[in-house]
Amino acid sequence: MKKNAETANVHSFSEGEYTTAVLKAIENSVAKSRASLARHLGLSRTTTSTIVSGLINLNLLEEKSLLREGRGRPGILLDLDSSIWRAVGAEYHSGSWAFVETDLRGSILRTGSLKVAGRGPDAFLDCLAQGLAEFRRNVSGELLPAFGIGVPGLVDCDRGLIIRADDLGWRNVLVSEYVEKKLKSKALVINRNRGAGLAEARFGGGRGTHQIVYIGIGTGISAAFIVDGELIHGSSFSAGEIGHITMDKAGPLCACGKRGCLHVYSSGTAMARMAAALLSEGKESGLKNKKNQREPIDGEDVCLAARAGDRLALECLGEAARQLGLAIANIITIYNPDKVIIGGPIGSIDSPLIGYVRKEAERWAMPHAFDAVKIERAALGESVGALGGACLVLDRKLSLASVVRSK
Ligand SMILES: [Zn+2]
Repeated sequence: MKKNAETANVHSFSEGEYTTAVLKAIENSVAKSRASLARHLGLSRTTTSTIVSGLINLNLLEEKSLLREGRGRPGILLDLDSSIWRAVGAEYHSGSWAFVETDLRGSILRTGSLKVAGRGPDAFLDCLAQGLAEFRRNVSGELLPAFGIGVPGLVDCDRGLIIRADDLGWRNVLVSEYVEKKLKSKALVINRNRGAGLAEARFGGGRGTHQIVYIGIGTGISAAFIVDGELIHGSSFSAGEIGHITMDKAGPLCACGKRGCLHVYSSGTAMARMAAALLSEGKESGLKNKKNQREPIDGEDVCLAARAGDRLALECLGEAARQLGLAIANIITIYNPDKVIIGGPIGSIDSPLIGYVRKEAERWAMPHAFDAVKIERAALGESVGALGGACLVLDRKLSLASVVRSK
C-alpha cells in the first residue's frame, strides 16, 4: 500500500486504530499510564480512559502500582495482562514439530514436540494437527483462537500455503486449510526462518535494534529482514529467500532449478555433501566413524566436529563461509542493517562459522556499512521457531480476544 505525504496528513484514525496504538505503546513501553498515553497519541484523557477500560475488560491490559511521572498526581501503571490469554505456536524442523505456549508478553510457559512418522506433506500435516490438538488441551489460561505455524519453504501467508519447499520436493501444501478443518481454529502460517527472525528481533539479540537481518541455516538457508520488530514480506512473500541468490552462474544445480545458488554452497545439506566427498577421497576425520557405521552425516555433525577442531570439518565450514560471507557482505552493503543474526539449527551452534563469515563479509562489504553492523549468533534456543509462530498470534491479540469476548 503506497501512501504519499498528502494522504498521510489527511488520514484520520478510526477507534480501532487508536486502540491498536494504545496497546502497542504499552507493549513497547513507550507510555506507561493513561496520562502519558494521551500525550503520546495526542488523544483526550477521556478517549484514552475509554480505550484503556475496553482493553482492561478484554484482559489485554492490567492496572499495576502507582507511577510517579514528574510532578503532579501519580498515575496508575498500565501493563500487558499476562495472566489470562495464551498463544500457541508451532514449528517444523529436523523431522519434528515443536510447540510453545506463551503469555501476552511472549514468555514461554510450556514447550512440547512430536516426531513426524513418515515423509511427505500428508504425514507432516497429520502430525501437526495431532500435536496441536494435544498441546491445546493443557493450556494454562484462555487460548487466543488461532495457531501460528512456522514451516519450511516459500509461504503465501495470506493463504496459509507452502508454495514450494524445494529441499523436500513439496508444492502447494495447504497448511491453514488443513488445520482449520481438523481443529476448527484459525491457522496463521509463516516461513520458519522468518518466524524465528521475528522472535529473535522481539525477544532475543535483536531486541531494541532498528534494522536486523536474521539468517537461518539448517538443511536449507533463508533470511528475515526486520525493521523495528516488523517483518518485511515483500510483494509476494519472498523477501529473505537468500538461499536462492546466484553466487556462480556456472555452479552446481540447485533443487530450485537454477545453478550456483547460495544453498548449494552454504546450507547444512551442502556442508554434509562436502564432508562426504572429502571422506570419499580418503581424508582423515572424526566424521569417518559415522560414515563407517553407514549413518548419514548432516550439517550439524560437520559444525560440531569443526568446533572440536576436526580439520576436514573446518575445511567444509570455511568453504561454506566463503560464499555465505560474500552474500552477507552484499546484504550489508545494500541494506545497511544494525545487526546480522545467524541462527537456525546450524547457525546456532557455537562453531567457528561466525568468525569465518565475519572475516569474509569484511573483505567484500562497503566499509561504511560494515563498520555499522554487528554480526552475531542467535541468542534464543531451540524453541525460537515456534515462538515465531506465537508472534503471529500475539500480533492479532486485540482482534482474537475481541472475537472471544463478543460471543
Ligand atoms: Zn536455488
